[in-house]
Amino acid sequence: MKDCIFCKIVSGEIPCFKIYEDDFVLAFLDIENDAYGHTLVISKKHYESLVTCDGTTLSRVFDAVKKIGNHYVKNCGFDGFNVFNNTSAAAAQSVMHFHVHIIPRKENDNIIVSNRMIGKGEFNEADGKLESLTICKNTEKTELEQVCEKLRMPQEKVVLDDENCVVLYTDGACSGNPGAGGWAAILSHKGVVKTLSGGEKDTTNNRMELLGVINGLEATKKGETVKVFSDSAYVVNAFNQNWIENWQRKGWHSASGGEVLNKELWLKLVALVKERDVEFNKVKGHSDNALNNRCDALAREEVAKLQE
Ligand code: 5GP
Ligand code: ZN
Repeated sequence: MKDCIFCKIVSGEIPCFKIYEDDFVLAFLDIENDAYGHTLVISKKHYESLVTCDGTTLSRVFDAVKKIGNHYVKNCGFDGFNVFNNTSAAAAQSVMHFHVHIIPRKENDNIIVSNRMIGKGEFNEADGKLESLTICKNTEKTELEQVCEKLRMPQEKVVLDDENCVVLYTDGACSGNPGAGGWAAILSHKGVVKTLSGGEKDTTNNRMELLGVINGLEATKKGETVKVFSDSAYVVNAFNQNWIENWQRKGWHSASGGEVLNKELWLKLVALVKERDVEFNKVKGHSDNALNNRCDALAREEVAKLQE
């Protein structure tokens, strides 16, 4: 939204002290600096408040809140954290872009948390803040920069062997579009890795991306939790940006009116997703993600087989 401060932070127009970022969420330090590490977790997409935010985004924001809070306790020396949200002006929401506040806490820190945090001038520094804030005053760096360096979350590592879920990497490749295509899926669960791949003579890249996920999910059990990692914006956004809901609402017609391309594959995939707890994650393709690269190589091998 044009005049929204937080949208400008998301777009980079206004700088921030970033703590965490993923496809849905951005977390950064509150400019007020009224409590050490006061963090705002916001949806990247503009929603005026918690009540207008869609369910998927809401759950991703709270997933991030959980991750960041955990990180503050596990890695940054805090003992706990408060989480709060102000909805509507009457409840002191001042920025009309959905956000959640995190206040990292130490035992006996004497911080008084309220929906209007007590500002700097109003409370005793020794009572309300951790020592490290004063220590960094002599350096050239601003306090917030220093706090941010201490609290920032490391870039997430490749997820493999998450105890509670199946990790599924997929990729598709196509020589010419349309042309000979290949797909691959690498499933990993509790140390067991399964690799699947296949190809088709006359197909498209998007169909191969879809088949990678479909075949991967078909190898999982109904009811299982599956984290899918794909470099296909086509596949990931369809689930994470409500394309599918929109297509369903319009009887599987796209915005331009025609029937949604690859409808039969989408229907298959939607059915598989419905029977499982699936999370879609976008990874950068052709970069340093080992499993994504392995899938890419397998898919290309399938293409090569068809061209022999
Ligand atoms: P609310 O009162 O709406 O729950 O919280 C909005 C928060 O955004 C306030 O705590 C305020 O300090 C913070 N805030 C407002 N403008 C900016 C900004 O430009 N940068 C950052 N980092 N925080 C901001
Ligand atoms: Zn906004």
